[in-house]
Amino acid sequence: MPNLDSCYALLRLSRGASQEELRDAFHRVAKQLYTDQAGPDTTARLQAIAEAYSRLEVASPGQDSAGSPGPSPRWLWRLSGHISSALACGGVRLLGDGTVELCLQEDEALTGGAATLSFDTDIVCRRCTTTPGAGCERCAGTGRERERVSFWLSIPARVANGTVLHPSVEPLKLTKPIDFIVRVSPAG
Ligand SMILES: [Zn+2]
Repeated sequence: MPNLDSCYALLRLSRGASQEELRDAFHRVAKQLYTDQAGPDTTARLQAIAEAYSRLEVASPGQDSAGSPGPSPRWLWRLSGHISSALACGGVRLLGDGTVELCLQEDEALTGGAATLSFDTDIVCRRCTTTPGAGCERCAGTGRERERVSFWLSIPARVANGTVLHPSVEPLKLTKPIDFIVRVSPAG
């Protein structure tokens, strides 16, 4: 586990930041990862940021700790990483229509949490969107490019079975939007 100072540094915050500042900083820094060009290490960097975020959220004095016996399992590791590993451990299931089923256990659905998933998909060509027209070298005129896309999925507390979550990969654009549908199954 990184120490608190390095967590604050990762999120570019000073000590004593409020929960709101913490959340804003997390989203800002996570978004910045894409603006700086997503690469093969994006998922690892996003996870480092998310780990710092969950660490500080627990440590922050502003948090509501009533009824919580310890650090809450906010970070859903089982549902994080490349989608193939989440598939292998039953965290997600691919449905035929391009929808992804997010398999939550009852306790995970109750507390909610966060997951960072990555997968290889077609995105709208970054160069075409800025300079529309023929002769794009980046995508050879197809208008799309293959990319390993990572995104942050926020799962609200007490999420209901069947809830559809739409992850954002801003500022990248998927050629085909992807929906996550929540399936809650009894624990054990
Ligand atoms: Zn292009």
